[in-house]
Amino acid sequence: MSGWTEGEYSLVREARDSERGFLEDLDQSCFRQRAPIILVCCSDWKRRHDIIQHTAALRGYRPDEDPETHALNWHGGVIRLAPNSPTNLIPKTDEMFLQEVVNALRWTKFRDLVMYAHWPCKQATVAGLTVEEVWQASMSGRDRVVERMSGSVTARTFFHADYENLQAGKRSYYLHPRRCVSWLTQARDDTSHPR
Ligand SMILES: [Zn+2]
Repeated sequence: MSGWTEGEYSLVREARDSERGFLEDLDQSCFRQRAPIILVCCSDWKRRHDIIQHTAALRGYRPDEDPETHALNWHGGVIRLAPNSPTNLIPKTDEMFLQEVVNALRWTKFRDLVMYAHWPCKQATVAGLTVEEVWQASMSGRDRVVERMSGSVTARTFFHADYENLQAGKRSYYLHPRRCVSWLTQARDDTSHPR
């Protein structure tokens, strides 16, 4: 039994493959080579290891090297940073997590922030988020950290998809910010003005 609906699967395919898509395959250009990172990603034990190993390899670290990854693994990852996120049941949880990220940046002096959401993610589905709302929360969460750090960090947002029994394995994508915002704006317009 897959955690995906057919609609979710086709939406992700469209966001990846269509002309207006914004999910880009990862390569080395997504990361500063051999730079330590703050990693924000879900603690999900079935996917976390894949994310750390994959990003380490693309950042130029060999499997036997310390990947210099300072990880903050709150359930759901970057979506917990979105203001008023329904994934946070306790008031000001987003503020608390934001402070954790800011502390990590200040204490390590790392300047590269790699922020992940993933699907299927229990934290997101329990809160009733759709895939599109996960992308929206990913962008909001990222913007928030950049704003708080006055633009002094490089923060990039990624989406990990575990296609499970859909035979496509696990894949990670970079959310191209401008294209993603344009997609989400159009999705909102379509919802408020149904054709
Ligand atoms: Zn998760």
